[in-house]
Order: sequence, then C-alpha cells, then structure tokens
Amino acid sequence: MNAETLAEVRRYPGRATRAIIDLDAIEQNLRAIKGTCQPSTQFMAVVKANAYGHGAVHVALAALAAGAEQLAVATVDEGCALRRAGIVAPILVLGPIDDSEIAIAAERRLTLAVGHVESVCAIQVHADRASLINPISVHIKVDTGMRRFGALPEQVVALATAVTTGSSLRLDGVFTHFACADEPEAEPTADQYAVFARVLNELRAAGIEPGLVHVANSAAALRGGYEAGMIRVGIALYGLNPSSHIAAPQGTRPAMTLVSRVQRVVELRAGDGVSYGATYRAAGKELAALVPIGYADGYRRALSNVAPISINGRRWKVRGRVCMDQTIAGAELKSPVAIGDEVILAGDSRDDSVPSFDELAALAHTINYEITSGIAARVPRFYLRSGHVVGIEDLSGYRAL
Ligand SMILES: *Cc1c(COP(=O)(O)O)cnc(C)c1O
Repeated sequence: MNAETLAEVRRYPGRATRAIIDLDAIEQNLRAIKGTCQPSTQFMAVVKANAYGHGAVHVALAALAAGAEQLAVATVDEGCALRRAGIVAPILVLGPIDDSEIAIAAERRLTLAVGHVESVCAIQVHADRASLINPISVHIKVDTGMRRFGALPEQVVALATAVTTGSSLRLDGVFTHFACADEPEAEPTADQYAVFARVLNELRAAGIEPGLVHVANSAAALRGGYEAGMIRVGIALYGLNPSSHIAAPQGTRPAMTLVSRVQRVVELRAGDGVSYGATYRAAGKELAALVPIGYADGYRRALSNVAPISINGRRWKVRGRVCMDQTIAGAELKSPVAIGDEVILAGDSRDDSVPSFDELAALAHTINYEITSGIAARVPRFYLRSGHVVGIEDLSGYRAL
C-alpha cells in the first residue's frame, strides 16, 4: 500500500480502522486467472458474503468490467442487493433457498440452483400462480460427492425432466462442487468429475441439453483440467490463495488492506499486565500501542498474544487479549511510534512487514476466507481506482465520490 494512497484515505474523516479495497487488483486478478484458462471459458465471479468482505457491489462491477460473464451469491438477499445497484448480469444463487423466497427471487430475475424435485415443484407453483411471462432460470446442482447440496447422480435425469416439463422453468446450467480441490491429492476431485461426466452423458442420452456446465471453484480452476464451460471463482479473485497447497496465480495480488492508527502509546514496566485477564505481562520496560480494532470488527480473539501487527514498517505483536473494539500491540522500547501512526493489520505481505491474511488465518486456526468475510459491516470500506479513493461504504450508507 503506497504512502500517497494511504494519505488520501486518511483525508476522509471517520474511524481510523478501515478496509481498503483496490478494484484494479480485482480486475487484474480476474485477467490473470482467465489467462490460465481456455479462451472460451466463461467467468462467474463469486461475490457471496459481501464479496468475501470486499464489498459485493463494487467487486461485482469491477469483475463485470474486466470480463466476467456471470455472478454468484449464496442467498436471495445478496442477489437482490446486486439488482438494487442496477446490475443486470445473470446472478446464480448457489445455495438452497426457502420456498418463501421464490417470489422475490423470480421478480429480481435471479437464477436458482435446484437440487431436488420438491423445490422444482414449488417454483412451478409460484410461476403458475404469478402467471410469469418469462420462465425462471435454473441450474441443476449435482451432488457428486460432497454431500452438502444437490441431486444425487441417479436423481438428475428425473429432476431435469421435471425442470424441462412445462414452460415455467428454463434449464440454463448444470453444475457440481468439489470437496477436495484445494487438497494436495488430485484423486478425489478426479473421482467427482468422473461422476459428473457420467451424469452429463445420461442427460444428453435422455435428450436434455444441460446448458452451461460448470464445476470448478478457484482451486479446481487453478489445478486445470476442470474448466468446462464456466469457472466459479471466489478466493483467487480477491488475490488470496485457495489453500496452502494451491496458490493464487502469478499476476494476482490481495485486493484488501486492513488498516488502523495508533491511538495511545504507553510505556509498560516490568510486571504490568495487559488487557482482560492480564494474559500478557511485561518482562521489562517496553512499549504498548493501542489500536482501535477488535473481534467485533472481525479481528479475531484467537489472535490474542500471537498476531503480528505492522507499525511504521516494523512488526509489533498483539499483547494480551484482543477486546471487542480494541487491541494492544507491543514492541521494544526504542521502536519508533506516536499517536496517529499508521497501522497495517493485514494485506499484501510482499510489502515490508505486512502480515498476510493467510498468516492471520493460520494463527487463528482458520482459513483466509473466514478472516476477510468476517470483517464486520462497521469497518468502513474505501474503494480505490488507480490509487485514488472512488467510493466509501460505511454504516451511514454508500457515499459515491
Ligand atoms: C463459494 C463457492 C465457490 C467459490 O469458491 P472459491 O474457493 O472461493 O473459489 C464456488 N462454487 C460454490 C458452489 C461455492 O459455494
């Protein structure tokens, strides 16, 4: 994160803790991932969970501008939020929905994933009752081994027949999801893919055209060999690694930088206890800097006493417990620090001393997905283009600049 950009972010008043999202990085990442795929492969940008904490509307617009054909969300509400922002691209709701959401999903022209015949019937009942002019777009989800959501392989032809009977639904796609694509072994993914390929053959043999076929998340897309007609990319779009075994490709970089500022500096004396429970005690004279971020911001309590924090280009360390709204960082006495100094909690670790989201995730015994998607709504998002702030989103509402 360059100094001029940070200075520009700082010219806007508000709480010191901010998530800075570089929309150019989103676009570059998309192009870098596309560059590893067959040229004909379509790109579905997965922007569920507020684009893994990065801001769904801004990320969706950037992804579409960079050539994504479709978007994916987890819930109907998330899809509605994108429509409200004026986005007209196809939006697939990946997960199961409640029957009570069918009406709003149809009105907003969201594409629904169906995995059992009961939901197809419920959608048909709605379509008939509402006398819809346009059919409701659906993709059939096939459970090829993850046992989460979808039709079992032997149920797919019957389900597809139910979808294509009558005119209220339109079969626009068939897809599956891999359970182990980010693991070192390739075999479980190859096995799931083989099951899926058999299902596609059965569909075609039954005279059913599956529409757009898609199987790969980021990890499977980067492994290669599983692209099909479209890839569904989440984590790599944000410039983060799918796992410790599968890295985001060359040319990608983390889009998010989580920053704050020092709000108090105190000299600790030997024996001083820090934060709740005094789980850290100073061994001798040292410095403590107060940073206004806590677990209610998504800076997890599991980072207590273990996480590095970058202040003035050096690595400080969390001292004592992370509180709900505040955290204390410590360093040796001679470390340069003053109230107002810039703090970087996570971002591009190629920058001097900045912790990566992977590093924080490992220390909190979780994955980078959970860290970024857990960054709370109360942390304002600052959106960048060409190193300049082009949008701010905070609890007071979106302010276009
Ligand atoms: C979240 C999700 C994705 C994206 O996964 P990444 O690992 O973030 O690329 C793709 N497909 C489905 C069904 C998902 O739920």
